[in-house]
Amino acid sequence: MTGIVYKSTGSWYQVKSTEGDFYKCRIKGKFRIKGIKSTNPIAVGDNVVFDIEKKGDEETGVIKKILDRDNFIVRKSVNLSKQTHIIAANVDQVFLLITINNPPTFTTFIDRFLVSTRAYRIDTVLVFNKIDSYEIEERAEILYLKDIYQAIGYTCIEVSATENKNVDQVKELMLGKTSMFVGHSGVGKSTLVNAVEPTLDLKTKEISDQHSQGKHTTTFAEMFDLSFNAKIIDTPGIKGFGVVDIDKYELGDYFPEFFALKQDCKFNNCIHTKEPQCAVKDALENEEISWSRYKSYLQILNGEEEKEHFRTDVW
Ligand code: GDP
Ligand code: ZN
Repeated sequence: MTGIVYKSTGSWYQVKSTEGDFYKCRIKGKFRIKGIKSTNPIAVGDNVVFDIEKKGDEETGVIKKILDRDNFIVRKSVNLSKQTHIIAANVDQVFLLITINNPPTFTTFIDRFLVSTRAYRIDTVLVFNKIDSYEIEERAEILYLKDIYQAIGYTCIEVSATENKNVDQVKELMLGKTSMFVGHSGVGKSTLVNAVEPTLDLKTKEISDQHSQGKHTTTFAEMFDLSFNAKIIDTPGIKGFGVVDIDKYELGDYFPEFFALKQDCKFNNCIHTKEPQCAVKDALENEEISWSRYKSYLQILNGEEEKEHFRTDVW
């Protein structure tokens, strides 16, 4: 049988068969996935092949094979083993929730996030939430940010999760797809998901309410079918993905506006810093691309810790 993994606890997996039935499954033997060393071989979103085993009245499954993944998201474990944990696989799109205040979302965070999703080959939609609560400067900031990100191909929507404004646009983008909602704690992820599907009570909420940062909490991703032909993957406690290891010569490829100009740089290994006749720096000087994005680029390139800055902060 074939199916999709909806839940993974580390020791067993909940799999929904193509026919629509749920089975509790385990893995038999060793699963190794080419190129990555992960603590969990199978993740939520994986398409798997499994056999049914009958024990008395109970039918359980044994996963035999994982089908090729379109993409997968990993989190590096902090311990010395350097192993990675696969958070989810086959994600169609991520909704990145952004608030200008309460809490502030800085452009460095957004840009790092976009690098990771581009590297993972996952579409990202920028959702500006809490538009009901903004004053004029905050509204202006949203417009500036939308200008920057729409110009480089990202879909941006403004919503109010509490006042149900433009939530239908979010639902429309979710149709027929598997989505994730991420963003800082307090940006309104659970509120928005609740507005999208009132009967769904995600764990994101519990985590942010417990103020349990720092405490060791084991959290497991879980997939849910929504009432309108959409799937959602809930990843409690995950605010961002972190930047995957990217070669310094490759980083610019994950900034689409830099990538588009790369062929016009004099040197084909240009990293757009000190090289002469750099098309990216020319475009910056001509204000054709955004300084705020370039600033984030340098920060990642130099391996700096995330320093928070707003688009409007002066260099
Ligand atoms: P999460 O940590 O990202 O899941 O954030 P929550 O959904 O728990 O929301 C955090 C706080 O922001 C709650 O007090 C919500 O009521 C509030 N909130 C969420 N969405 C909106 C919104 O659109 N407008 C306003 N004014 N407040 C919101
Ligand atoms: Zn260049």
